[in-house]
Amino acid sequence: MPRSTEIRQLNDHVGEEVTLTGWVEATRAHGKVAFAVVRDGTGIAQTVFFKKELDPEVWERHAALTQESTVAVTGEVREEPRAPGGYEIAVRDLQVIHTSAEYPIQPKEHGVDFLLDHRHLWLRSSQQRAGLKVRAEISQATHDFFYDRGFTRIDTPILTGAIGEHAGTLFETDYFGDTAYLAQTGQLYVEAACPAFRKVYCFGPTFRAEKSKTRRHLTEFWMVEPEVAFADSDDNMRLQEDFVTYLVERALERCSTELEILERDTSVLERIKTPFPRISYTDAVARLQEKGSDIEWGRDLGAPDEVSLTEDHDLPLFVYNYPKQAKAFYMKENPDDPRTVLCDDLLAPEGYGEIIGGSQREDDLDRLRERIAEEKLPEEAYDWYLDLRKYGSFPHSGFGLGIERTVAWITGRHHIREFIPFPRLMNRLNP
Ligand code: ATP
Ligand code: MG
Ligand code: MG
Ligand code: MG
Repeated sequence: MPRSTEIRQLNDHVGEEVTLTGWVEATRAHGKVAFAVVRDGTGIAQTVFFKKELDPEVWERHAALTQESTVAVTGEVREEPRAPGGYEIAVRDLQVIHTSAEYPIQPKEHGVDFLLDHRHLWLRSSQQRAGLKVRAEISQATHDFFYDRGFTRIDTPILTGAIGEHAGTLFETDYFGDTAYLAQTGQLYVEAACPAFRKVYCFGPTFRAEKSKTRRHLTEFWMVEPEVAFADSDDNMRLQEDFVTYLVERALERCSTELEILERDTSVLERIKTPFPRISYTDAVARLQEKGSDIEWGRDLGAPDEVSLTEDHDLPLFVYNYPKQAKAFYMKENPDDPRTVLCDDLLAPEGYGEIIGGSQREDDLDRLRERIAEEKLPEEAYDWYLDLRKYGSFPHSGFGLGIERTVAWITGRHHIREFIPFPRLMNRLNP
């Protein structure tokens, strides 16, 4: 392979001859001058071909270039403010490593089904690259945030025997004659790790057989789930707002180019500061009824309710203490109103809805047992989880934040399917 320079480092090589290896995004020719825009995965650079200075073979090779052909281009780096990226390569040599067949994705509008069918190629286009770069930054920022605060990362199993959340959205698979479920959450396991490490988090793929097609549900998505010993519901909400604010700041600080490519109005993000407003579920229902909704106390909030509540705010909004029947079995009963549990959903502004679900966990053995029975869950599967309430039970809280939803909001894009490299949806398992 030719020794190549990465495009992101061209500023260190002005006036020198370098070789770039990458893919041709576009070409054009004006008489005796021709151009090729080359992408190498670290940036894009314009390369310029002057007919009279070139070996005629090189000029011919340029003329035959097709979109997405793989090339090695050698030439001198010059500053060129009008070129994308600010540098231009005055070409001396062009080697064609592979001539691409006619590329199906053209710089024109394609329908989303077509693009999703070609996801393996669509990844290369500038907005998709930008979106996935932001995802990668948010993912790194997640690890940095928890690492800096003394959390230990725990990797939780994907094949499980216990239902984590809702029986309705389980993927089942045969496990040597038994049934295994794909994890809907790692929470029960991070709870178990708390007495070992006090503050823990997991961050991995989770699976839900979502039967509805919405812009915010994937069947495979990535969730970060911190769990903290001796933290109550209020501590939990404070951790959530610090975390979300940190993610937004990191995106603003390190993804300005990507946010620009995605045409994000960043002034909205610059306003994200703690503390976030809070409203109880009961007050939220009253507010929704005032606004004309037919919601009744007891029902979980739907997407339209969440959007309607956040219309009143620029900041993410906490809705706390939902009715027990709307939430999972492991949430702690509210001592001041036993119809409700000590939990919160964090709703992103601008109509994005829930990005976090959090709660204080039920730490009383008998109550937890009752809840498992009420939900008709098989108690045997939770034996080990109940043990945590027998051997050194402790107050603790945690939450789950969905990465794709958070990145969709931060980048201001409509659908979360663009924020995972290969989205899994009800009707899509390929590519
Ligand atoms: P929703 O009410 O939107 O279905 P949920 O209450 O079922 O979400 P939780 O079990 O609270 O979700 O999961 C925690 C977080 O995981 C959510 O706040 C969201 O960010 C993310 N999440 C949940 N389900 C999905 C999904 N199907 N696709 C992408 N992200 C999801
Ligand atoms: Mg759900
Ligand atoms: Mg919800
Ligand atoms: Mg939730």
